[in-house]
Amino acid sequence: MRFPLALTVKIAKHIIRHKMARTPKFAMVLQLEPLHTCNLTCTGCGRIREYSTSLKDMVPLERCLEAAQECNAPMVSICGGEPLIYPKIEELVVGLRGQGRIIYICTNGVFMRKKMRDYMATVFTPAMEPVLQRLVDEQLVTEKEAEGIRKADATARQKTVIAPSKWLYWNVHVDGLEYTHDLIVEREGVFKECVAAMKMAKILGYQVATNTTVYKETDVQELEEMFKYLSWLGVDGHTISPGYDYDAAKKDMVKRLGRNPTDFFLTRDLTRAKFANIERWGQMFTIFGTPVYQEFLAGKRELTCTAWAIPTFNVRGWKAPCYLMTDGHYNGYHEMLEKVDWEKYGVVDGVARDPRCENCMVHCGYDPSGALGTNYQRGDNWKNFKYNFASKPLPYAAGDKVVAFNGASIGKGHLAEAKAAVKGELSGARSVFQRNGHHDHSEGEAPAGGADTTQRDELLAKISAGKNIPLKSE
Ligand code: SF4
Ligand code: SF4
Repeated sequence: MRFPLALTVKIAKHIIRHKMARTPKFAMVLQLEPLHTCNLTCTGCGRIREYSTSLKDMVPLERCLEAAQECNAPMVSICGGEPLIYPKIEELVVGLRGQGRIIYICTNGVFMRKKMRDYMATVFTPAMEPVLQRLVDEQLVTEKEAEGIRKADATARQKTVIAPSKWLYWNVHVDGLEYTHDLIVEREGVFKECVAAMKMAKILGYQVATNTTVYKETDVQELEEMFKYLSWLGVDGHTISPGYDYDAAKKDMVKRLGRNPTDFFLTRDLTRAKFANIERWGQMFTIFGTPVYQEFLAGKRELTCTAWAIPTFNVRGWKAPCYLMTDGHYNGYHEMLEKVDWEKYGVVDGVARDPRCENCMVHCGYDPSGALGTNYQRGDNWKNFKYNFASKPLPYAAGDKVVAFNGASIGKGHLAEAKAAVKGELSGARSVFQRNGHHDHSEGEAPAGGADTTQRDELLAKISAGKNIPLKSE
């Protein structure tokens, strides 16, 4: 099965119960943002920009748990900001599990290993020494950290921690292989840390998923390589969604990076072109999301937005109408359901009801539509059932051949040059993300940003030509 049976049953029961009760609108996944503080400043992130004036605010633990009770979504995606910065993250996870919910911790991965060491300290016994030694051997834990785990004192051993569970996923943000990912998150070394964290998580028995946003300049071939690599690493599933040009990210792009948002975000037509392979990927890899949503992304059908099924709760309340767009915040989920005129949003039969929705095909607006039978077509239920109950695709055997580390970790750091160039007056700054239009990883050819400097030099040459500035000396 692509998604574990117990979790599938829980979600199916939730849908059936509401369908039988004829509930017009109900929550499937709660996007819970206990804070918006983040240790990164990713290029396409609207959150840290939209909520820049309340980055220090946090939703109290009790309020987070109440919000989950109120909307009663079977799944809670704890996001942010970076949720591992939330001081009560462990208590939040334990509290949500106490409510019987499926939990995704959407993280940039940077603090994951610390949280897993905390977990190990609480359960360590000499019988776990081989596992700890393996983590040391694979350089996922240092000798000093291992010693700290072995010698944990009573306080460390009694700490509330995030323990492995079949009801819990680490959901790690990965937007490409090393070069691209580090460029998008605007910090070198993050991809490497994510990979280390995912490896450690799998060794310790956690479930790991990844989430990927596809931008206009995302290289589709690179994404496929990334899935091969992640699959080989043992990642349990992947969410993939088109990047959307919501207001906050758009403004930031112009102001901070001096770039044109249309160079970066996808239109509907471009989304369909980028996602042309999604159904094939769905067969090769464990892509989460319904096949109906995949058909929508590939341009084979229309869906109507069901943003109310994935509500967002944060420091300002229930955010309406959706995760991306903000026309208001409400005190209660049911109040939001009642007061928002949902007919004003989305795209119906190709016509945008709100111009801001025109290019949106994001997972949080349309994936539930596939599961809830909106725009139902004959055979959809069977299609969804077959997709989930079919055997899970095997880990990609040759994933270790993927040249995943094609950036900073092999000494080809690129961020400083790229940033320096982008910060200037260049109108065609998109070249930064257009390192190479053809990633052929066939034998003998250097990978993107890889063993030689050709592509980086090309990039810098393009930037330089566009800006008429001299190249930095090597
Ligand atoms: S890690 Fe997430 S919350 Fe932080 S800046 Fe990046 S996209 Fe935004
Ligand atoms: S289509 Fe739906 S999810 Fe997308 S921006 Fe509009 S309301 Fe939000």
